[in-house]
Amino acid sequence: MAPVDLRSDTVTRPTPAMREAMARAEVGDDVFGDDPTVRALEERAAAMFGLEAGLLFPSGTQSNLAALMAHCARGEEVILGQDAHTYRYEGGGAAVLGSIQPQPIANEPDGTLDLDRIAAAVKPDDPHFAITRLLALENTIGGKVIGRDYLARAVTLAWKKGLSTHLDGARIFNAAVKLGMPVDQLCAGFDTVSVCLSKGLGAPAGTVLVGHPGLIARARRIRKMLGGGMRQAGILAAAGLHALEHHVARLADDHANAGRLAKGLGDAGWEVEAPQTNMVFVRVDRERCEALQAHLAAAGVTAIVTPRTRLVTHLDVDAAGVDRAVAAFAAFGRPAAAA
Ligand SMILES: *Cc1c(COP(=O)(O)O)cnc(C)c1O
Repeated sequence: MAPVDLRSDTVTRPTPAMREAMARAEVGDDVFGDDPTVRALEERAAAMFGLEAGLLFPSGTQSNLAALMAHCARGEEVILGQDAHTYRYEGGGAAVLGSIQPQPIANEPDGTLDLDRIAAAVKPDDPHFAITRLLALENTIGGKVIGRDYLARAVTLAWKKGLSTHLDGARIFNAAVKLGMPVDQLCAGFDTVSVCLSKGLGAPAGTVLVGHPGLIARARRIRKMLGGGMRQAGILAAAGLHALEHHVARLADDHANAGRLAKGLGDAGWEVEAPQTNMVFVRVDRERCEALQAHLAAAGVTAIVTPRTRLVTHLDVDAAGVDRAVAAFAAFGRPAAAA
């Protein structure tokens, strides 16, 4: 039996239907603008978000970096969350490669950034200060959904302060499915949105940046500079198109499986944070982490066990897989604190 891999929703393999779409894809040299499947994906993604242009990247990290660099010149500043992927998990690329100064703000428990703190972080026009140029938010963040009301207030604030806006929407479709709201409505007002095809949507690689044409044109130059210009990328774009067509609504299954996992673990005595989308967080005593990870592996469950263990459901985990994971946790024994 294949292991139940709960490390991330990036571990999904392309389905047979997706591989077929990839094999059939019409391709060309996308650096010359010749790949019809890439263009179709970019147009389709942009249309879904009500934006004019799209651009395919090999990864979400590169898409976010190119977006930040398209918005900000050297020495300009981006306001973002202390826990944001763009700040924490992208190797400091915006600073290293873009000479962009990050201004992090602590994320609230619900994942948002306090609007007063954003306003207070915008620097006055004074040569002592970097020029605050951009507000970058993330949705979902740590599996949490940021609702439309907050997003609308945040983009209004940015507009009033003269900032442009970027949304790291690596898992924006998880948020949209959870809220039952189309992505164009959920993301209205953002100048650029970065959307991963390789997470819950199940494509092997690829992220689409959608946005206003001027910004996307700049991002295209930056993508080439960063080494992200791909040639017959239609093979990947076909997987992305297939994912947008067939793997969006089914994210609700991942959310249901996360709920099933959380309930099972809770019933077995583990301390669990109630999931909003496809991520379950479980508290594990630090001194038991290593033993639990080995125990799970022996039971065919792959997880990265830390004091706040993240378990992620996805296309390749069904209810039976969830039940196997719950059984493996239960067999390890109740957590010491609850015993
Ligand atoms: C995965 C992810 C990215 C992009 O990561 P890559 O591994 O480079 O594709 C960006 N932002 C968030 C929130 C993510 O989860």
